[in-house]
Amino acid sequence: MPISFYEARQQILDTVPTLAIERIPLFEAAGRAVSENIIAAQSLPAFDNSAMDGYAVRTEDCHIGAVLPIEGYLLAGGTPANTLNPETAAKIMTGAPLPQGADAVIPFENCNAEQDQINILYTVKKGDHIRWTGEDIRPGDQIIPAGTLLRPAEISLLASFRFSTVPVHRRVRVAILSTGDELQEIDELPFAGGIVNSNSWALAAACHEIGTIPVMLGIARDNLTDLREKIKEGLQADVFLTSAGVSSGDRDLVREVLEEFGIKEVFWKLKIKPGHPTAFAMHNTTPVFSLPGNPVSTLLTFEEFVRPALLKMMGHHTVLKTLHRATLTEPIKKKPGRLQILRVSINIDQDGEMLVSSAGDQNTGILRTLVNARGIALLAAERDFFAAGEKIDIHLFGASTALGY
Ligand code: AMP
Ligand code: MG
Repeated sequence: MPISFYEARQQILDTVPTLAIERIPLFEAAGRAVSENIIAAQSLPAFDNSAMDGYAVRTEDCHIGAVLPIEGYLLAGGTPANTLNPETAAKIMTGAPLPQGADAVIPFENCNAEQDQINILYTVKKGDHIRWTGEDIRPGDQIIPAGTLLRPAEISLLASFRFSTVPVHRRVRVAILSTGDELQEIDELPFAGGIVNSNSWALAAACHEIGTIPVMLGIARDNLTDLREKIKEGLQADVFLTSAGVSSGDRDLVREVLEEFGIKEVFWKLKIKPGHPTAFAMHNTTPVFSLPGNPVSTLLTFEEFVRPALLKMMGHHTVLKTLHRATLTEPIKKKPGRLQILRVSINIDQDGEMLVSSAGDQNTGILRTLVNARGIALLAAERDFFAAGEKIDIHLFGASTALGY
C-alpha cells in the first residue's frame, strides 16, 4: 500500500541512525553540526574594555564645562591599567582594558582635547562606549546547542572561547549506484538508444552540497549478476542510494536483489508525484534509498527524503528547510490522490511579498523546469485545484540554500 509523503518522511527520520562522534579542527568545522551543547567557561568579554578610541573617565567628574587632565595612555593588549585617579582622564584605545574606577569612555570625536587635558562638552552617561565583562556571554551560558549548524558566526564564537577542535558527527559516506542497460557513462562513445548516466553526477553534487561524501559505484546493468556485485558493495557504505529499476518493469530487479541481501523494507511506493516508486529500507545500520530513475524524480526525492535523512545522520537538529508563505500568481490544477512536488519560480513584489508560479512544464521528463525552479511547493494530495491568489507554503531549492533552513 502506498503511503503518504509525510508518513514516508517521518518513517525515514525515525529510522536512520546518527553516526559516531569525532573531534575535528575548528578550521574544518564550518558546515558541520556540533554534537554537544557548548557551554561558556568564561565571560565574553573577559574584561571591561573600551569600545572606542577616546578617554576613560569617571562620569561623576564629567559635568559640562569640566576640564580633566590626561593621565596615562592605555593600549589594546596592554596589561590591566591602574586605577584612574579622580578628576582625570586616561587616553584609551578600542579593546584596551578599562582602568579601575572609570565608568565611561568619551570618543576622541566627542570632546575637545588640548595638549594634556580634555574639555567635557556633554553629559556623559555611565557605561558609554564600554564593553562590560560578560555583557555578551556569561560563564555557564549555553552558547551553541547540540545539533547546530556551524556557520562562520558560530565558528567566531567557538574561536573566542579557544575551541581549537569541535565534536561533530562523522560525515556520511553515501554510495551511489545507477542502474539500467540503456545507461552509458559521460565519457563513453554514444550508442543508439543510449542514455547518459546523469543521475550519479546529480546525486554526488547533492551529497556534496550538504557535506556528505559521495562514493561513485557507476552503473549496474539490469541483470542479477551485475546488480548483486554492485549492491553488495553499496551496502558497505553509511547510506546506499540506487537510482532506477524500482518501477514494475520486467527488468526492475533492484529490489529483488536488495531482498536477497536481507534488507528490511520500510516502505515502497508513495502517494506522490513525481517519485511514486521510491523505496526505503534498512540493511543492518545502512539506510537504503531506491530512487526512481527519471532525473527529475531522482533529484526531487533526494531533496525531500534523502537530504533530511543525511542531515539527521550527521546530527543536525534542523533537517527540514524553512517553509515560506507565498502567493500563487496562477491557478494550478492537479489530479487528487497524490501530493505533487511542484517546481516553482519565485518573485518578490513591491511590498516584499513572495509570489510563486509554476517554473514551467511539470512533466517529469523536463529537466529544464528543475533548473529554472528556485523553490518547491508541496501540493496537498487530496486537493485538485489551487486558485490564483491562494497562499501556499514553499521552500527554497538550490545550492545557495543547501543548508539554509
Ligand atoms: P527506470 O526507473 O529504470 O524505468 O528509468 C526511468 C527513466 O529514467 C528512464 O527513461 C531511464 O532511462 C532514465 N534513467 C534511469 N537511470 C538514469 C540515470 N542514471 N541517468 C539518467 N537517466 C536515467
Ligand atoms: Mg531501467
